[in-house]
Amino acid sequence: MTATHVLVTGGAGFIGSHYVRTVLGPQGPGEVTVTVLDKLTYAGNPANLDAVRGHPGFSFVHGDICDDQLVHRLMGNVDQVVHFAAESHVDRSIRSSAEFTRTNVVGTQVLLDAALRAGVRTFVHISTDEVYGSIAEGSWPEEHPLSPNSPYAASKASSDLLALSYHRTHGLDVRVTRCSNNYGHHHFPEKAIPLFVTNLLDGKRVPLYGDGLNVRDWLHIDDHVRGIELVRTGGRPGEVYNIGGGTELTNKELTGRLLAECGSDWDMVEYVADRKGHDLRYSVDCTKISAELGYRPRKDFATGLAETVAWYRANRAWWEPLKDRAAL
Ligand code: NAD
Repeated sequence: MTATHVLVTGGAGFIGSHYVRTVLGPQGPGEVTVTVLDKLTYAGNPANLDAVRGHPGFSFVHGDICDDQLVHRLMGNVDQVVHFAAESHVDRSIRSSAEFTRTNVVGTQVLLDAALRAGVRTFVHISTDEVYGSIAEGSWPEEHPLSPNSPYAASKASSDLLALSYHRTHGLDVRVTRCSNNYGHHHFPEKAIPLFVTNLLDGKRVPLYGDGLNVRDWLHIDDHVRGIELVRTGGRPGEVYNIGGGTELTNKELTGRLLAECGSDWDMVEYVADRKGHDLRYSVDCTKISAELGYRPRKDFATGLAETVAWYRANRAWWEPLKDRAAL
């Protein structure tokens, strides 16, 4: 059987690299080869791909998804695309949204055009639950209207809709996933969990936004990658699939758990002014992916969080050099 050649954009980042390590690892499907296309922005880290560097089915291209010529050239021998590359930090998008519009919107358009022209079989677009906006009660099904609030979420909603338009207009087999907040190892230390853990391990205080009552659903990267693989291999063209973790916590509850894991107390918490336009609550309804593809999250949050904190304790050499880059 010939291997399926998958182009993974943003494969040096947090989730993309876990995806690559997993599909090329012992638990992977076995019939896949991967080319990673990554610009190696501040968030991209070649060390995240060390585990697969010598793999015969792996290659890496240092480049920008907005580079039309490069992307068209690469797409020539690609069967499927899994598109992670993005500017991903909400706080940075509040400071300046230019790179978010360029990479997330224009970059996605360049990839879609190239995929269409090259006759790529399947294009999996990794979107986010943040495209739905904020919900006080209940959960969003996939057909819920999009109402993004931050510039990050607006750029992701734009690329999400653009991707779906290539299915409706051109018949390209596009599948969109909208996942909740991911956590796990190799997470860049600007995001809440790795920022809090690395600060606490260094004996530094942690910044908690506003009253800490914003609610997020936490999804372990193992579960997310499994969900993406179910969609890549068994999802339907033109469909959107929510992927959730099933653990909703206020930021205050999350902080309490992180303090306990790190052996710290509430003296280490500094309440800071709330994020502008801070969404109160995200919650995705995962009925569709469960019913159609048999997805359910497997990682228990307490176990996943303990493993994550243990990884940061054991891997200072990975995150210490990144702390300066993480400062806004
Ligand atoms: P990340 O910031 O850790 O990684 C992004 C990667 O994309 C980096 O390797 C970076 O170098 C690369 N990149 C950025 N701009 C590029 C460009 N112009 N060309 C090529 N490569 C470029 O992000 P992540 O947390 O791994 O998120 C991956 C995807 O998942 C994103 O699309 C994000 O919107 C989505 N998502 C993430 C979360 C989460 O909790 N982290 C939740 C929902 C959705």
